[in-house]
Amino acid sequence: MNPNTDSASPSTGQSSRLGSLFSNIKLFAIATFILVFSTLTVGVLTTRYITEKEGVLEISLIQSNIRLVNQTLENIEQQILKEDRRLYELTAILGWEDLSQKLEEQSITRSPLVKHLYLFDPQGNILFSDCEDHPHRRLIQQRIYPQMARKRIPLQSIHHLHTSVNAVYYLFSILKFQAATQQMVYTLVMEFNLENLGAFFDPFIHDLAKNYQICIQDYENNVIYGEAIEDPRKYFAEQRFPNTFYRWMFQLSPRNAAEIEQDERNRRALTVALIVINLVLILSAWFLVYMGRKREVRLTRQKEEFIRNVSHEMKTPLSLIKMFSEILILGRKRDEITRQEYLGIIFAETERLTFLVNNVLDFSNLERGLQKFCFEEMDLAALVSKHLEVFDYRIKKENVHLHVDIAPDLPSIEGDSNALALVLLNLLDNAIKYSSDGRKDVHIRLFREENDVVLVVRDYGIGISPQDLPRIFEKFYRSNHLSVRRIRGSGIGLSLVRYIVDAHNGRIAVESTPDQGTEFTIRIPRYSPPSET
Ligand code: ADP
Repeated sequence: MNPNTDSASPSTGQSSRLGSLFSNIKLFAIATFILVFSTLTVGVLTTRYITEKEGVLEISLIQSNIRLVNQTLENIEQQILKEDRRLYELTAILGWEDLSQKLEEQSITRSPLVKHLYLFDPQGNILFSDCEDHPHRRLIQQRIYPQMARKRIPLQSIHHLHTSVNAVYYLFSILKFQAATQQMVYTLVMEFNLENLGAFFDPFIHDLAKNYQICIQDYENNVIYGEAIEDPRKYFAEQRFPNTFYRWMFQLSPRNAAEIEQDERNRRALTVALIVINLVLILSAWFLVYMGRKREVRLTRQKEEFIRNVSHEMKTPLSLIKMFSEILILGRKRDEITRQEYLGIIFAETERLTFLVNNVLDFSNLERGLQKFCFEEMDLAALVSKHLEVFDYRIKKENVHLHVDIAPDLPSIEGDSNALALVLLNLLDNAIKYSSDGRKDVHIRLFREENDVVLVVRDYGIGISPQDLPRIFEKFYRSNHLSVRRIRGSGIGLSLVRYIVDAHNGRIAVESTPDQGTEFTIRIPRYSPPSET
């Protein structure tokens, strides 16, 4: 074999493996970075969305309540303005001559919202009124009219006076107009009926009151209409009447603020939970990919090591076969005993090679799901005796003391003899391999226990550490201990053994103490003819 090729190939393999590992790790690092970055971004954006949304909801609810208040006030005022338009109509039909008489003659249909009409001359005297209550007329003339006069109301435009006298509120619509020929300014006044505020407000409030607390207050917080809002909670809105009842404040507060908040809290909690679940799922997926990658890298490494180990294992018997056959061919050794010995070596090494190749082939079939067994009634004791001969040369060479104890009259089993031979050879090979430094006793026992035929292979070698023990049946698994590493092996023997034993409905057990040895026990059910079952 060319030594250069020999030394070059592992280093090339190593560098290309390192290269592929490096690029894999790089790709994985990039993927991890992207994943972490996008996860963080989603997290931050979502948190911002949730907190912003909370504020936005509150603002939009307050705004919509303010809109509601404005809308209601406008509707109420529209009602009053509708009455106001009647003042214009009145001044249009009124002649300037005898105003009071004309007013009386007119059949003025008034709505229940209007209480009285008054016509004042430029000096503030009542020219006409439908109010028969003289003290009230006096109050209007002496206390209310001066307030109207102070308002400097322009001609032909309607203004309102919202005032209180002796803690009683009044609302008036006032229209100043000029009699066409006399150049005199008269004042036409409409007094609204505030004794029945329900007539004003109920139609507008009725629907609102189902979901909102409504209150109309004056400046001193006296409730004029509705129910006092004790504890103005969130989403409370208030607004002064802009034109008519301008001394009053209209207030509104949702009855179900707590419900709205609870709904919003639930919605937010649900969103947060969904996002957290998603993030957990993403991270779990990443973790699975990570574990898969780790496993893949480990398997690749193990496979490469396996190929290296198997090649080396083949090299030794091949060199021996080549060397001894060359000697024989060249006829250098002439005495029969030595020739026989060399032939024995060649035979034993060929067997070792066959065992190795069979192991690899069977393993490869097993990997590809092609492993087929040929079950038949067979004698395990005969199989053990026959195959122990294969180890004769090696046992002698390595000074191993083999103790074989086969119980008589063992029942037959149903099995595949090639496969079971592989089980025995693997266990024996390991027992010899892993006891090369210490006590070189190997015990093989075959006996019956209940319905099983039991095969025990015991050695007193390096043993197996408790950490390695649960993993020794995994494919390609080899302990990392130095004592194991320096012994050649492929890491497929025991996985093959377990597979074969399982296929025979058998059981395998191992007991081992580091530095004291290992004992493998295999139980195969005895053969039961079809009639017995
Ligand atoms: P290998 O070719 O490495 O021996 P196996 O699958 O046969 O592969 O064994 C797996 C591992 O189990 C070995 O690498 C070794 O660590 C451990 N092992 C198996 N048999 C023995 C034994 N008789 N004594 C000590 N260790 C053992």
